[in-house]
Amino acid sequence: MTSTSAAAAAHATVHGYPRQGQHRELKKAIEGYWKGRVGADALRGTAAELRRGNWQQLAEAGVHEVPTGDFSYYDHVLDTSVMLGAIPARHRAAVAADPLDGYFAMARGTQDVAPLEMTKWFDTNYHYLVPELGPDTVFAADSAKQVAELTEALGLGLSARPVLVGPVTYLLLAKPAPGVAAGFDPLTLLDRLLPVYAEVLADLRAAGADWVQLDEPALVQDRSPAVLNAAARAYRDLGTPGDRPRLLVASYFDRLGEALPVLAKAPVDGLALDFTGAAAGNLGDLAAVGGLPGKRLVAGVVNGRNVWINDFEKSLATLGTLLGLADRVDVSSSCSLLHVPLDAAAERDIDPQIARWLAFARQKTAEVVTLARGLAQGTGSIAAELAANRADLSSRAGSALTHDPAVRARAAAVTDADGRRSQPYAERAAAQRAHLGLPLLPTTTIGSFPQTAELRTARADLRAGRIDTAGYEERIKTEIRDVLGFQEKAGIDVLVHGEPERNDMVQYFAEQLTGYLATQHGWVQSYGTRYVRPPILAGDISRPEPMTVRWTTYAQSLTDRPVKGMLTGPVTMLAWSFVRDDQPLGDTARQVALALRDEVDDLEAAGSSVIQVDEPALRETLPLRTAGHAEYLAWATEAFRLTTSGVRPDTQIHTHMCYAEFGDILQAIDALDADVISLEAARSHMQVAGELATAGYPREVGPGVYDIHSPRVPDVDEATALLRKGLGAIPAERLWVNPDCGLKTRGWPEVRAALENLVAAAQEIRGGL
Ligand code: GLN
Ligand code: ZN
Repeated sequence: MTSTSAAAAAHATVHGYPRQGQHRELKKAIEGYWKGRVGADALRGTAAELRRGNWQQLAEAGVHEVPTGDFSYYDHVLDTSVMLGAIPARHRAAVAADPLDGYFAMARGTQDVAPLEMTKWFDTNYHYLVPELGPDTVFAADSAKQVAELTEALGLGLSARPVLVGPVTYLLLAKPAPGVAAGFDPLTLLDRLLPVYAEVLADLRAAGADWVQLDEPALVQDRSPAVLNAAARAYRDLGTPGDRPRLLVASYFDRLGEALPVLAKAPVDGLALDFTGAAAGNLGDLAAVGGLPGKRLVAGVVNGRNVWINDFEKSLATLGTLLGLADRVDVSSSCSLLHVPLDAAAERDIDPQIARWLAFARQKTAEVVTLARGLAQGTGSIAAELAANRADLSSRAGSALTHDPAVRARAAAVTDADGRRSQPYAERAAAQRAHLGLPLLPTTTIGSFPQTAELRTARADLRAGRIDTAGYEERIKTEIRDVLGFQEKAGIDVLVHGEPERNDMVQYFAEQLTGYLATQHGWVQSYGTRYVRPPILAGDISRPEPMTVRWTTYAQSLTDRPVKGMLTGPVTMLAWSFVRDDQPLGDTARQVALALRDEVDDLEAAGSSVIQVDEPALRETLPLRTAGHAEYLAWATEAFRLTTSGVRPDTQIHTHMCYAEFGDILQAIDALDADVISLEAARSHMQVAGELATAGYPREVGPGVYDIHSPRVPDVDEATALLRKGLGAIPAERLWVNPDCGLKTRGWPEVRAALENLVAAAQEIRGGL
């Protein structure tokens, strides 16, 4: 193992690339296919064209080995289920009749069959389709897609490496199929699964694969000895010498930790490791296990999850250290570039100076190539790039956008007292009861009302200049009047204005805060054909003027009942944006919190007695390893309290969360010190109410009794039964009646009926108390 030869061989690669195409051609083709406007062959043609375009782009940029098989019509985990023959029983007929339609049926469901469940891919905002497995699952290799895409890339004369979800991660991401006992552990299927992987690997070898990458990101989480043993067994088995491609086992998003010695010892041919962000500890860990003698190391030094340029000097230093630790060191992105937008050069509205700090997939690819060249040929060969990188980094560090003295001084002056309400909960609750005069079991909603076609048309008309701002605002006001009129008539106690002016709960605020950037083309896949354009937290955050006060006071002027002010909380603002990498997340959260605190205070001053600060993302940004949880929850809950603690004791602070599992953050929910929390609970039959009660939660709770993810309208009896269940855990003085989440995706007829039933159920129970 000599470092000079390791360096001389340094190649550039990436783990995967955005699938959608420059103009989201893939979305258009797939949605066209669903609507019957695009034929199957046309769809396949568009897909092949996009793959070819991506590979050519990568190759022209100087990437030596392109990834294949990372492309997907919907999701790569679903593709893996197909590759392994793990088709749920309810979809088998559809898949047999037409593989493409059957595939989309698994992804989206049909009139008659439910789709696979969808959930977040680790701590990213990408969602995958959860494999459904059981003791009777029979795996069968179907390598057609992987082989075809490899063949396409090889046909272009490129050196290509198929990328597959690895067997251990696949099983760890799976859940028991419907009808299978919840205690079933998919990992027990490993021995049955490995021969199928071996078959796919052999097929890829036969098709010309030299290397195959197996992604095992699930191993970066805290894992039991049983799981680590399974990983050891899997790679001992797949690594058995024979006619197989060389195996590269990849991990990303955090350190491999205890799994690193396991994989380092396994008879595989290389490891791809993430050396960015939370995973930077891999460097020390790798040295501690004695490196990877005899193996290839693919070093992920270009962050595949943020939008910022790389620090070349820092990366070269990391790469230099790694040269002494492996037989061959290649340079890569830390993970697939699927998680970042395609091309920063497409952004015309961003100040050119600031645009130079941005790196999307194309720019990150160029960075990987530059670093590989610097490693192979010495830094002299990339002198110009190094100088430009240094200049851009220092322009970012010295910019007034990233360093606003007023924002920094205010954040530095924050004290514990700023994050504490002036009175303890019990006293506040009494003051709020007197001030608000609400009945027992008060009824409310979570904020949004249906985003109707008229509202979308109004926004489109405004953008196209068919109406002016005044005309647009008239339409919003009309909507607010309708929404309030309905709520009053239905007998709801705490009203909302319905959020008709908001396109999105994060973007709406991001557009009004200084320090946030919006992109024009920065689309990132969320799931299937759904793409989002997360705003970018680029600089220090401040609020030039109130953001919601005008609409809230307009709504309040129309009614005597309390209208809730509605804000998105600081943690959710971070979770659904691209964040800064030049300061700790907690610092950014604090800046956002202080800007929102001003909004909360202004709402109160304008007459709001009830203010809701939504934190649906509090749970989802928990660090992957439990070692990081305490620190995260400390700054996250502090940011929430900082947002909400400036108000009088008799002003009631609500919060809202909507993911079914709260079990591991009950303490953090308590630490928010919100007066009222509404939570998703309808599907889990009020489970969360019991969990909070058991944990001794002392404040008011609104466990949702209307599942807004479904078009079903709960009748009065059903809502009453759910409320009775809630009353078994939470006393009547502290129980609220509300839906699971906002109503923006529902239609008016359902919403009307469901809310009327909710009010009737609350009245029925009040009558009996
Ligand atoms: N207030 C928001 C709404 O009702 C909350 C959305 C959410 O929790 N995701 O739409
Ligand atoms: Zn919600």
